[in-house]
Formats: sequence, C-alpha cells, structure tokens
Amino acid sequence: SLPIVAIIGRPNVGKSTIVNRLAGVQDAIVHDEPGVTRDRTYRRAFWQDREYVVVDTGGLVFDDDTEFLPMIREQAMLALAEAKAAILVVDGQAGLTTSDEAIARWLRQQTVPVVLAVNKCESPEQGLTQASEFWQLGLGEPFPVSGIHGNGTGELLDELIKYL
Ligand code: GDP
Ligand code: MG
Repeated sequence: SLPIVAIIGRPNVGKSTIVNRLAGVQDAIVHDEPGVTRDRTYRRAFWQDREYVVVDTGGLVFDDDTEFLPMIREQAMLALAEAKAAILVVDGQAGLTTSDEAIARWLRQQTVPVVLAVNKCESPEQGLTQASEFWQLGLGEPFPVSGIHGNGTGELLDELIKYL
C-alpha cells in the first residue's frame, strides 16, 4: 500500500491549501470517512518517482496551550498512527505561537518523522527570515513555502520523500 503522509497543524495555517497543492489536479479521494474521522481526506500525490497518500486533518486545537480538544486530538492521533511521515504546517506570517510549540512538543514524542513547513512565505528572501525562528520547535530545518503560489514545495518534498 502507498505510504501515508499526515498534514498536521493548528487551524488556518494553510493545511488544506498545501494538500491541494501537493495533490494538484490528482483529485482522486482514496477514501473519505465521515463521523469519527471528520475532516480527514485522503488524496493521492506524487513527487519525483514517488507516489503517496496525503491526509488532511482538521487541525489540532489547543485549549490553554497544553490540552487539545479530545475529539480532534483523537483524529490527529489516528492520522499519525497510520502515517509514514508527517508535515507540520506553521504560519510564517503569524510567526511562532504557543500552540505551535505545544503541537511540536507532542510530535517530538511520536516516532513518525516530521518535516516542518513554514507556510505563507510568498517572498523567498523574507521566507528564510520568517522560517528561521521555527528552528526553536526542535523538529529540524524549517522549510519556507507558499501553499498558494507553490514556491518552496520542491525543497520540502525532496526532504519528505527521504522518509517514504
Ligand atoms: P487550514 O485551516 O490549515 O486547512 O488552512 P487553509 O488551507 O484553509 O487556509 C487558511 C487561510 O490561509 C486561507 O484564507 C488561505 O487562503 C490562507 N493561506 C493558505 N496558504 C497560504 C499561503 O501560502 N499564503 C498566504 N498568504 N495565505 C495562505
Ligand atoms: Mg483545512
């Protein structure tokens, strides 16, 4: 079966935009489970000679920076449990938030390799500056990307496929 990549992050960082960018015109939903797995969609994606399935999750919502809502936590954990790798998406325009830190802390305790995407970096020069503060998350190199325009996604995917 194809390797699964889970897209994780707090709401509004651009997870769905990035999923649309990675899946491109390949709009085939492998399967879509309503109910418990609300908002998880599975789509085929390709990079170089690699094919994988990208899972859009509803997002981790934290209450008080330490606990995230049990249902959404459950959903994220289900997505991560079946994933070969994950992309943590953060918002380079908003900068580092305590929710990002809380999600990263949780991800660092998991065994799944994580690639860090700093989204909303439309300008390559500014993007490097915007991305640099996310080294603090302890998840390795932050990759500046723009889900809307597509820049940076090649470097991100080159890193991702090492783990697939
Ligand atoms: P999600 O909640 O994490 O799935 O985020 P969405 O994909 O729904 O995007 C949230 C908002 O961020 C929307 O208004 C998008 O248009 C915007 N957005 C997403 N990607 C980018 C990007 O690369 N650059 C900018 N400037 N805005 C973006
Ligand atoms: Mg979304």
